[in-house]
Amino acid sequence: MSFKSLGLNNALLKAVEKQGYDTPSPIQVKAIPLILEGKDVLASAQTGTGKTAGFTLPMLQILDGTRHPKFRPIRALVLTPTRELAAQVHDNVREYGAFLNMKSTVVFGGVKAKAQIATIKQGVDVLVATPGRLLDLENQGALSLRRVEILVLDEADRMLDMGFLRDIKKIMSMMPSKRQNLLFSATFSREIKQLAAGILKNPVLVEAEPENSTAEKVTQKVYRVDKGKKTELVTKLISEGNWRQVLMFTRTKHGANKLTKKLIDSKISAAAIHGNKSQGARTKALAGFKNNDIRVLVATDIAARGLDIPLLPHVINFELPNIPEDYVHRIGRTGRAGAKGEAISLVCIEEMEYVREIEKLLKQKLETEVIEGFEPKNNDEPGKSNSKKPQRKNHTPKKRNPGENKASRSRNDSRSSRRKDNRSSRRSN
Ligand code: AMP
Repeated sequence: MSFKSLGLNNALLKAVEKQGYDTPSPIQVKAIPLILEGKDVLASAQTGTGKTAGFTLPMLQILDGTRHPKFRPIRALVLTPTRELAAQVHDNVREYGAFLNMKSTVVFGGVKAKAQIATIKQGVDVLVATPGRLLDLENQGALSLRRVEILVLDEADRMLDMGFLRDIKKIMSMMPSKRQNLLFSATFSREIKQLAAGILKNPVLVEAEPENSTAEKVTQKVYRVDKGKKTELVTKLISEGNWRQVLMFTRTKHGANKLTKKLIDSKISAAAIHGNKSQGARTKALAGFKNNDIRVLVATDIAARGLDIPLLPHVINFELPNIPEDYVHRIGRTGRAGAKGEAISLVCIEEMEYVREIEKLLKQKLETEVIEGFEPKNNDEPGKSNSKKPQRKNHTPKKRNPGENKASRSRNDSRSSRRKDNRSSRRSN
């Protein structure tokens, strides 16, 4: 299968060749012809599958064929949950549109609006935006969405997690109802299906991979370790393995800062990326990480969305996420576009329940090991009777007892309350 056979024009084929892509990825093979036909598409594709080119290439081709000779109103809008993803998608739009007469820009919060407004005033065909800043600019009369022909919701699941549903609905009301809609999501929850039903018209369903599957090329491992020994273990792994580029996840911003400081104290160059950092600091950290000046990037889940670091070899979950889908997103940072990668999770006893939830979602057991010198002293799960069983090398999830089901139910409850919490802090993440 070639890009040419998907119906792309020469300018786009040239751009794809310039990027060094030989063959279209599965999501590109499926989505590009449908989008070119003008269909609404509901695509299940996690980051790393080539989804951005999957919607950008046909979108640019359609826009190229419908351009008004004099005016340049915004005709395509790509909404993303985070600033990093917005910047990344916009870079791709520029790269893929390099040989077309197409103008594009990106708007997101955390930076001054003045330059963004000035660029929009000059006329842009494609606008990539995060919902909050887009609404601010629309409210100020700095832009109009009345001529939008194509709407893309990228990483729609994360937009819902971040509480953007109301903003998305508001943005919908500012656009003409006759338009092409493309919705990309890594997971297909009930909420996503509901959102899709309200936006897409007779959508064609496209799945890059089975629902919630992880990239096959990613080796996943769990290292059981006590909480207080995690920093020492991670320092050892990075130093002795001579790992040069490691993306590490913590659950909180404070945890990310603390870990970054400890790594730097151990002479491992590191930077944190999270919502409390200024946009300038985030961009600098990411650039330093990409060009190998910084060895470890410590990130929170939301800040990490949209980070596209080609050939990222190591992802470490310093702490496991309490939402199993976030684990899939995290490890999707490695093994991208066919490359091999390793995802390691440092798991203390309190997190074993999260391991079970993840295994349930993946329908796969995670290989569990103990590193010599880091044998966990605490093997008693909270709320469970003390078991003095010997440490098993491979973790086999046991059949749940009623107490465990209750625990998982209560976490599901806390999951919905976490969503509510995110609503208030969404613009800072
Ligand atoms: P995405 O899933 O859109 O974040 O893309 C993941 C990575 O794959 C990006 O670095 C793209 O540049 C790269 N990529 C996209 N399409 C292809 C392709 N057909 N062949 C090789 N790499 C690709």
